[in-house]
Amino acid sequence: TPVIGVLALQGDVREHLIALAAADAVARAVRRPEELAEVDGLVIPGGESTTISKLAHLFGMMEPLRARVRDGMPVYGTCAGMIMLADKILDPRSGQETIGGIDMIVRRNAFGRQNESFEAAVDVEGVDGDPVEGVFIRAPWVESVGAEAEVLATHEGHIVAVRQGNALATSFHPELTGDHRVHGLFVDMVRANRTPGS
Ligand code: GLN
Repeated sequence: TPVIGVLALQGDVREHLIALAAADAVARAVRRPEELAEVDGLVIPGGESTTISKLAHLFGMMEPLRARVRDGMPVYGTCAGMIMLADKILDPRSGQETIGGIDMIVRRNAFGRQNESFEAAVDVEGVDGDPVEGVFIRAPWVESVGAEAEVLATHEGHIVAVRQGNALATSFHPELTGDHRVHGLFVDMVRANRTPGS
């Protein structure tokens, strides 16, 4: 059974731990480099990307995170987590940095004021059956992706789910819906990445 961490600096950590366990992974909170070293994959939760960025520096996690993502550890970011996985943010707050890993440009809070939070059915490539219930909370969208990134879903013409190699990102929050199919997709990515017998 794959062991999957949830970066527990800020955000909806608990909901991801529950969703991962429901998708047949062993899930643990990760705060320190030693804990990061022990997981087969990592979820970066929703929350506030500027805060996560600052806390990652404070906890000495930014470089270890970048190193593991660079080395191919499977990683899944939702909302603020998507922002953390973007190689570039269109409108960063001062001092805001990302881990990177996906060649994409992300716009924070993109869906705008009048529509800060909403739900919509989203068809996600690689998730069988009915569309996923997309919960968008002050969500980013992806302005553009590079050649290696694959668009998995759009909403009203805007990119809201992307995969590049072992990195997956969604603008929305499957951890809040009780539908664990997107987490299942990620757990399968982690399984596929593990060396047999480990
Ligand atoms: N707007 C937040 C940010 O920029 C993300 C919101 C979320 O994760 N629900 O970090």
